[in-house]
Amino acid sequence: MNTASPNSDPVLAHWDGRFGLPHFAAIKPEHFRAAFDKALAAHRAEIDAVAADKAAPGFDNTIAALERSGRDLDRVSNLFFVLAGADTGDEIEAVEREVSPLLARHANALYLNRRLYARIADLWRRRDALGLTAEQARVLDRYHTRFVRAGAALGQPAQDRLAAINERLASLGTQFGQNVLADERSYALVLEEGDLAGLPEFARANARAAAQERGHEGKCAVTLGRSAVESFLQFSSRRDLREKLFQAWIKRGENGGATDNRAIVAEIVALRAERAKLLGFASFADYRLDDLMAKTPANAKALLENVWARARAKAQVEHDALQALVAEEGSNFALAPWDWRYYAEKLRKARYDLDEAEIKPYLQLDRIIEAAFETAQRLFGLSFAPADVPLYHPDARAWEVKDATGRQVGLFIGDYFARASKHSGAWMTSLRDQEKLTGDTRPVILNICNFAKPAAGEPALLSFEDARTLFHEFGHALHGLLSDVTYPLLAGTAVPSDFVELPSQLYEHWLETPEILQKYARHASTGEPMPQALIERLLATRTFNQGFATVEYTACALVDLDIHSLADAKSLDVTDFERRDLERIAMPAEIVMRHRLPHFQHLFSGDGYAAGYYSYMWSEVLDADAFAAFKETGDVFDKATAKRLRDFVYSAGNLRDPAEAYKAFRGRLPTVEALLKKRGLDAVAGP
Ligand SMILES: [Zn+2]
Repeated sequence: MNTASPNSDPVLAHWDGRFGLPHFAAIKPEHFRAAFDKALAAHRAEIDAVAADKAAPGFDNTIAALERSGRDLDRVSNLFFVLAGADTGDEIEAVEREVSPLLARHANALYLNRRLYARIADLWRRRDALGLTAEQARVLDRYHTRFVRAGAALGQPAQDRLAAINERLASLGTQFGQNVLADERSYALVLEEGDLAGLPEFARANARAAAQERGHEGKCAVTLGRSAVESFLQFSSRRDLREKLFQAWIKRGENGGATDNRAIVAEIVALRAERAKLLGFASFADYRLDDLMAKTPANAKALLENVWARARAKAQVEHDALQALVAEEGSNFALAPWDWRYYAEKLRKARYDLDEAEIKPYLQLDRIIEAAFETAQRLFGLSFAPADVPLYHPDARAWEVKDATGRQVGLFIGDYFARASKHSGAWMTSLRDQEKLTGDTRPVILNICNFAKPAAGEPALLSFEDARTLFHEFGHALHGLLSDVTYPLLAGTAVPSDFVELPSQLYEHWLETPEILQKYARHASTGEPMPQALIERLLATRTFNQGFATVEYTACALVDLDIHSLADAKSLDVTDFERRDLERIAMPAEIVMRHRLPHFQHLFSGDGYAAGYYSYMWSEVLDADAFAAFKETGDVFDKATAKRLRDFVYSAGNLRDPAEAYKAFRGRLPTVEALLKKRGLDAVAGP
């Protein structure tokens, strides 16, 4: 019966609210453990029934049956991990530590199930004789690959060891993320008004609001969220305070004591290397990339190294210009990492007569959201109407999404402001994914961001980087919303991780088009559009400081591949490894990795981007080349190009191998030229 009252089992009770949302108000952290236990047991029983089926294996009684199973577990997991990321606390964190090894054990029981694997392998061998549709053949192939890559074909001792490794990795990943959040939560640079020299009004207002949220009445505070830190480093003329904040920021996860992540990183890396070896690969990076678009670490590295040499050369030129500014001021210190953004901002202002504080009043959160919506309307015919539904936090907002024929596409939830209960960063996630196997299931997709929250009554203003982040995450959201597949395994963003950033990074391009920027960049108090001259100056700065940005990113991607290429990582000293690897690639002393290893959540909060941080640049080759397809038509909203983009990328989930999908859209594979041009690296010498 699905009529359990919302209070008796609110997590698993049928989600019958409008849009099939859970009853958020009735759900308390203490409900989750029991809900997980029930959902796990139910899924286990379903899996056992498929494995033990007396009937000969067929697609429907094996693959489709697995695809229909585990629905309660999907619901409880989706809901729980939305909250664990966006609105967590001690109780949710405790549940997270308890359930992450349980979920790993559960995945082991599925992927290391020999009887189940025997059925899948039998089907896979006979795949050409089964009369499958193209989508069914893809699902079968993906199941077979997943089981083999999980170790289903190995002997018992190896499987037992893999199972233990997976459980341990799940716990370590959870601990890693919680430690970073703890370091961020426990730190605030508390200041007096007099310490805010150089800061524009928006940053002062944010600092007042942050102090109030943390209980420092009448003071100002800068916390460790990226937007807050970067604004301070950009504008504060207090070199001593910039250094203090910067040091706290880059030491997250490396402060000794209970939240220090270095031993955790060492153990994670060693366990991943051991797992790869058990599965027949030389290293974790080899194992990981074998199932991605890049295929081998060498392919990924070839791209990164091509870009790295050019980026370093460009950063050196940028450095010299900034050092000259320091001298012009009459100072004689050597530019330090906490100085770079400050002098870059000054140089940008001098060179382009442009400063962030001049742009920001024109970038209101609500208008940029509308801009992202209109872009989706012009490309894909989508419309967005505010939906008044209760959500998990008052700052989260919902919109009903419809297509050009008025059919419901799904629900989009935007949760944009930073708060102490939210993990840092920006991401897309879902409460429900699209599929058609058990009825026409419409997706519920979320964007979680960490923009500084304004004081009550003030408009929320974004930096241009923030606006870009909003478009980026909204591109991921569309990948989830427009998904049009039958089988859940292939839905939306379930694509290889070096392809998944294509829909998001490509979407950022439309923010910079005059069609969108002119219409939606409007002054918060006067309502005036951003002056054309200012837009031109803003866009002219597109390649400004790209040497720095490319170095900051590419160093991370190289260190990621290197640490995950270790064949044996026992007794790894993480700080020492990072230092030596940066020395090896000749990292400029004035630039620090965008994410240092002790707080590199992409790599260590879970498996998602481990040995896969290169994906952003890999995808950028694709997105720069893909946007060129629009420009070549003379219309950045060209209908025919947009239709191919929708058919083969945004709605196609994992229906095809990514290289094939890209070729179907573009007619050929991408080249690196558009990326080098976009970053202004085409004019500097390559390797
Ligand atoms: Zn992304």
